[in-house]
Amino acid sequence: AKLAGKNTFAFYSADMTRLARRRLELEEALTTGLARKQFELFYQPVWDVASGQLKGAEALLRWRHPEWGLVSPVEFIPLAEETGLITELGGWVLEEAARQIRQWQDQGLDPGVVAVNVSSKQLKRGHFPGFLRQVVTEVGVSPRYLEVELTESSLLALGDRTTELLSEIRETGARLAIDDFGTGYSSLSYLRRFKVDKLKIDRSFVSELSSEGGGLGIVKAIIAMGQAMDLEVQAEGVELDSQLQVLAELGCDSFQGYLKAAPMPAAEFAELLVRES
Ligand code: C2E
Ligand code: CA
Ligand code: CA
Ligand code: CA
Repeated sequence: AKLAGKNTFAFYSADMTRLARRRLELEEALTTGLARKQFELFYQPVWDVASGQLKGAEALLRWRHPEWGLVSPVEFIPLAEETGLITELGGWVLEEAARQIRQWQDQGLDPGVVAVNVSSKQLKRGHFPGFLRQVVTEVGVSPRYLEVELTESSLLALGDRTTELLSEIRETGARLAIDDFGTGYSSLSYLRRFKVDKLKIDRSFVSELSSEGGGLGIVKAIIAMGQAMDLEVQAEGVELDSQLQVLAELGCDSFQGYLKAAPMPAAEFAELLVRES
C-alpha cells in the first residue's frame, strides 16, 4: 500500500508539472498572440423577436493560433483574467469593436448596437469608463452604438464600487446589459440600485424551454421582471423554432442563437447587413 501510494504521488506530481508547464506555455502564447495580432472578433447577429429584424450583434473574441487553429475564449479568458492580461486583451476588444462599427458606418452600413463582453477584472483595473470615453472619442463613433455586457456574477465581484462604476459607464452614453442573467444572485432590489438597459437570459434556461425542465418558469419570471422595470430582455442560445415561439408568446424583445446565425467573421456580418438592409 505504501508503494502504491508513493507511485500515485509520483504520477500526480508529474501530472501537476505537466499542467503547470502547459499553463506557462499558454500564458506566453497569449502575450505573443496579442503582439502578433492573432486575435479577431466574430459577430453574432441579434434579432428582434416580434419583427424578425436585425438589431445588432455581440462581438465574441477568437484567437487564431498559427499551430492550434481557432481557440475558443472559454479556453483562454480565465487564464487571461488570472494573469491580468485581460486588461490589455479586453482593451483591444473594445477598440476593435469601435473601429469596426466606424468602418461599417463609413461604408454606409448600419450595424445597430454592438455588444462587447467586459470582465470584472478589467473593470477593477484602471478606469474603465474613462477608457471607454477615450476610445469612442479617438475612433469617432457614437457611444450609443456600443453595449457593455457584464455578467451577473462579475457585478457581485465588484462589491462596493458596482453602483458607481455602472452609472459612470452609462454616463458615457454606452448601453449596459447584464449577461448570463438568472445564474447569479440578482434580486429586484439589486436591479433597482443598478440602472441597466438590458437583461440577457442565460442559455441554460433557454435550452430548457422546449423540454419539461425548469426553464419556462424562470424565463417567464425574467421577462415579466424586465417588462415591469422597463428593461429590454434578450434571450441567448436560441437553437430551436419552438424556443423562439415560446419567447415570442412571453414577449421577449430580442434574441441571438444558432437558429438564425452563429458568430461570424466581420466580413460575413457585413454581407448580412447588406442583405438585411
Ligand atoms: P457569452 O458571453 O455568454 O457568449 C455566448 C456564447 O454562446 C458564445 O460562445 C456564443 O458563440 C455561444 N452561442 C451563441 N448562440 C448559441 C447557440 O444557439 N447555442 C449554443 N450552444 N451556443 C451559442 P463563445 O463565443 O465561445 O464565448 C464563450 C464565452 O467567452 C462568452 O460567453 C464570454 O463569457 C466569453 N467571451 C467571449 N468573448 C469575450 C471577450 O471579448 N471578453 C470577455 N471578457 N469574455 C469573452
Ligand atoms: Ca456575452
Ligand atoms: Ca451570455
Ligand atoms: Ca452564457
